[in-house]
Amino acid sequence: MCGIIGILGKSDVAPMIVEGLRRLEYRGYDSAGVATIRDGFLDRRRASGRLSALSEKLAAFPLGGATGIGHTRWATHGAPTDANAHPHATERVALVHNGIIENFAELRDELKSKGYSFTSQTDSEVCAQLITYYLRDEKLAPKDAVAKALGRMRGAFAFAIIFSGENDLLVAARRGSPLAIGRGDGEMFVGSDAYALAPFTNRVTYLEEGDYAII
Ligand code: GLU
Repeated sequence: MCGIIGILGKSDVAPMIVEGLRRLEYRGYDSAGVATIRDGFLDRRRASGRLSALSEKLAAFPLGGATGIGHTRWATHGAPTDANAHPHATERVALVHNGIIENFAELRDELKSKGYSFTSQTDSEVCAQLITYYLRDEKLAPKDAVAKALGRMRGAFAFAIIFSGENDLLVAARRGSPLAIGRGDGEMFVGSDAYALAPFTNRVTYLEEGDYAII
């Protein structure tokens, strides 16, 4: 079972995200990654293997930005490589996903026929590309693009999603996989469980099945 962390913070959040991911290590994982948004631009670091490999990458190539998401992956679609590690991203969106999208092959074929290309073997990247399609081609606002994309997906998921050009927005959604929202002091958090959020806040609300949150 993988782990998800998302933070809308006050200063650089990558170190906090890694701290949260460490508290999710007990669930098991094969790779990890972090994405942040800084001055409107998305950037990410990913590493297969232990979280220490990701920490080393972040030490060598730090990620700034007060909004970010992180993930520890338990591979279901595609080998545990750097390219298959989350966050999955396009120029418009970065997301972390827990679960399985059952109709990912149909969605991927549809997106390929519209000119979209893929850099991983995961079901999760299809979700990033599908949201991008609704943002870019259908010109929807971020929350509407996510709602539309979620409506197309079959299977189980928890998502945390950030958007280029939106320094202060994080969208979270759950169907089948748990996800909690934490309220801090001028900061907001998303996590797979309250234990992961414990260093930051004890004011935690679990999303109900089918909920999504605009933070
Ligand atoms: N199905 C996704 C993948 O293989 C997410 C797996 C997970 O829950 O970590 O990348």
